[in-house]
Amino acid sequence: MKKPQKMAQAAADDLRAKVHFCSETGQIWLHENRMLLVHAEAQASLRKELIDTLGIERAKGLLMRMGYASGMRDAELSLNRFNHADDMEAFMTGPQLHALEGIVRVTPIKVELDRAAGRFYGEFLWENSWEGQWHRRQFGIHTEPVCWTQIGYACGYTSAFMGRPILYKETQCVGIGDPNCRIIGKPLNEWDDAQEHVKYFSRESIADQINDLQFQVAQLRSSIGERGTLPNDMIGCSAAFRAAYDLLAKAARSNITVLIQGETGAGKEMFARHLHLSGARAREPFIAVNCAAIPHELIESELFGVEKGAFTGASVSRPGRFERAHGGTLFLDEIGELPLSGQAKLLRVLQEGEVERLGDQKTRKVNVRLVAATNTGLQRLVKDGRFRADLYYRLNAYQIAIPPLRERKDDIPPLAKSFLEKYAAIHGKKLGGFTDKAKRALIDYAWPGNVRELENMVERGVILAPNGGRIEVNHLFASCDPGMPIEYGLDRKGDLDPSNAWNTTRAFCNAVLDGVLTLDQVESMLLEAAVTRAKGNLSQAARYLGLTRPQFAYRLKRLNEESELDRSESNPTSAQGFNDA
Ligand SMILES: [Zn+2]
Repeated sequence: MKKPQKMAQAAADDLRAKVHFCSETGQIWLHENRMLLVHAEAQASLRKELIDTLGIERAKGLLMRMGYASGMRDAELSLNRFNHADDMEAFMTGPQLHALEGIVRVTPIKVELDRAAGRFYGEFLWENSWEGQWHRRQFGIHTEPVCWTQIGYACGYTSAFMGRPILYKETQCVGIGDPNCRIIGKPLNEWDDAQEHVKYFSRESIADQINDLQFQVAQLRSSIGERGTLPNDMIGCSAAFRAAYDLLAKAARSNITVLIQGETGAGKEMFARHLHLSGARAREPFIAVNCAAIPHELIESELFGVEKGAFTGASVSRPGRFERAHGGTLFLDEIGELPLSGQAKLLRVLQEGEVERLGDQKTRKVNVRLVAATNTGLQRLVKDGRFRADLYYRLNAYQIAIPPLRERKDDIPPLAKSFLEKYAAIHGKKLGGFTDKAKRALIDYAWPGNVRELENMVERGVILAPNGGRIEVNHLFASCDPGMPIEYGLDRKGDLDPSNAWNTTRAFCNAVLDGVLTLDQVESMLLEAAVTRAKGNLSQAARYLGLTRPQFAYRLKRLNEESELDRSESNPTSAQGFNDA
């Protein structure tokens, strides 16, 4: 038998002839495989970013699998090319390809192989290891060998070549400070610690892990909510609120399925959580799902769980929210968004007390109290055929309607006060409450976003108000909020009656919303006012509006062009003719 080194040399000459650069088509070919000539530095940056963003373990697995895939391709080439040659000669193609591709110089130290008998032992010296050198440059000396793509390549190549799993390990590596790398490869079952290495070759689903983490975050958030905000949020002395609250308190004593109706932000989840915590299930899980937030094609697997292999991407079995809520309460918000097939499954769970995971024949008993919520009239959805009537009647047995905030204005001051205390504590602020103008603004506002909007707005106020001071109107309302006083509505000197300014601003906004004024006209008016005040100096006018000179000029020009299209020459509000003084 010839020496492996000499064979390697002969193989190398022949291989170079198999590389074709086809500049006309923008392709590089190695025999039948398309190749890429990439910059080592760019590749190294990608490798570094993988490590930085995914962490060492995940990046290592990803790179090993990438190497494995190219090793397998090259093994295909060796086997085709040396169809009739002896095994050793064919095998040596791999080390030569690795060198030809610019990865590493491979010198065989000891190679014994017998494909028919499945015997393999290989020991190689690696010099100029691309990966080891770059890793050392970017991260310094590591505690373990680092040539992951390369070791993956060796495993992939030899496994495909031998037709059985062969595992390589680096016994020396430049990445840990050795002068060169050395690798040893033998069949998987001849390694004692094979499992530790093989795990990197199986693909893990990052999506599944993210999903799980999101779920945990949501649970943690809601448990923080339970401790910190529940007593504060269930505040209300208005008759409308008390009526809803009494219904809730009565339902808490039983296990009845409850349907909560209310506008967005009215506090449906808070009501559901309160129901859960005041009943016998308080110590069991409370699981909240917003049906509108999950894509239709995923909602059933989210709710009912999925068995491994049920569909592409279901790489692990996962319990659904029903199973996770076992013993406790499942809150389904925006139930009207649940697709019809999901509704049928939900009805079955309610009737039988059993769930069936997607792709699974087995049924599992679940003991879950269901609380559903909706902000739309479910009855109309039933009429339109988008919601099952039988499910509707089942859910509708006990209905609680939460009044919108604008219908319980008495509750605004105590709610605002409790949110102020909560967020002052969170943000470490000492505040003396709200100014009178701010209190009045809070009561006058229509609150389309209900309690949630109030809470967000008070938090914004807490952040913007100076420490030791009080929350003012402009700390609460962004200037673009419709109906709220914007700059010229609020006179800091106090000359202007605030309610007057309020009405003026509101009327102005209504004019825009009603289509009496167009946005372009508003913009045009502002630009002209700025130019007038700046006495025609466009740079100064731009500064008044917080724009650069070119931005200002661009807007003027655009409005001008549009006004020429639809306005007569005589219109004096045209911005034409302004010059930089
Ligand atoms: Zn190495």
